[in-house]
Amino acid sequence: MIPTRAFAALGAREPLQPYRFDRREPGPHDVVLELTHCGVCHSDIHQARDEWGGATFPMVPGHEAVGRVTRVGSAVTRFAVGDLAGVGCMVDSCGECAHCAAGLEQYCDAHTSFTYNSTEQDGKTPTQGGYASHLVVSERFALKLGSKLPLERVAPLLCAGITMYSPLKHWKVGAGHRVAVAGLGGLGHMAVQLAASMGAEVTLLSTSESKRDDAEKLGARDFVLTREPKALGPLAERFDFVLDTTAGAHGLAQYVKLLRTDGTLILVGLPEQPLSLPAMPLISKRRRVAGSMIGGVAETQEMLDYCDARGLGAWVETIAAQEVNAAWERVLASKVRYRFVLDLGTLGRE
Ligand code: NAP
Ligand code: ZN
Repeated sequence: MIPTRAFAALGAREPLQPYRFDRREPGPHDVVLELTHCGVCHSDIHQARDEWGGATFPMVPGHEAVGRVTRVGSAVTRFAVGDLAGVGCMVDSCGECAHCAAGLEQYCDAHTSFTYNSTEQDGKTPTQGGYASHLVVSERFALKLGSKLPLERVAPLLCAGITMYSPLKHWKVGAGHRVAVAGLGGLGHMAVQLAASMGAEVTLLSTSESKRDDAEKLGARDFVLTREPKALGPLAERFDFVLDTTAGAHGLAQYVKLLRTDGTLILVGLPEQPLSLPAMPLISKRRRVAGSMIGGVAETQEMLDYCDARGLGAWVETIAAQEVNAAWERVLASKVRYRFVLDLGTLGRE
């Protein structure tokens, strides 16, 4: 067994606290990672507070984990001891269904094993995430990392990066498209950078005036403060796509009205509350509302390579693991700039 230091939630309304547990011994296809960093995703908070239902405890959150390979199983071919590697939102899937065959493991027909708050393929053994010193994972779900950017700027790509890259690729967003991104947090700031890098004209829709300058530095051409009454009126029917990354309760009509005929509102944010959507703005211009969840393993590797080639990474605030509860409060207040990343070298110092 591999003794592991971590931070865990022991219940839905409890702060994270230091936690020790054992990871499994690596099987023939597994790699053991000594983690250096893990990004803090808003989904960690939703799940640890059981906002989506069905949470299991103790829960070690974290699905943006990076580190070095320290051991490899006897049948491992893609990684060697000393390699950099990352683990995103999934650690396993059935590997046999049509979705898995198509590289869409996140939509596996049988069972996607998510990195935490989920179970291994046996349906019983709980998975535990990346706010931890070590992680053991099948090499099929380990990602290769480039070395151009500091690791802490790469870690958030494993969820925030792929969650935005996948829909941009699926809907073939590029030059000639006008894209609005709602919410400048972890996902939003990757959406702006990626969409701009693909040639789209990007507008940021935000509730925070203080993010205006950053939006432009990230590649947005325009910034609109959505708290201003009537701010969105002049933007009606302007966009091919709206990427909605907002994590809190909000109505969709305001964003749907911004779409041109046949335009698509792509939901990636997952608020606890249902989203309201009146029919009229949808049907009056044959508009669409769609959703998208992370991305498959091969597409995640493609995204990492894409970002490495362009020197594109997250804007991060690196913090000690012991600061995680305070960081969560800042995420909830929309005050993260733009991803907290835990320095896992600090684990065990409490
Ligand atoms: P985040 O860093 O907290 O960013 C969310 C941003 O949304 C905030 O910074 C804020 O930006 C805006 N916002 C928050 N509450 C709002 C409200 N009530 N109305 C309007 N805007 C609001 O969160 P994140 O890590 O980017 O995650 C965003 C959401 O995506 C979460 O719900 C998360 O669970 C979900 N998620 C989904 C996937 C997927 O696969 N689909 C993957 C990862 C995360 P401004 O200050 O600019 O307004
Ligand atoms: Zn995430």
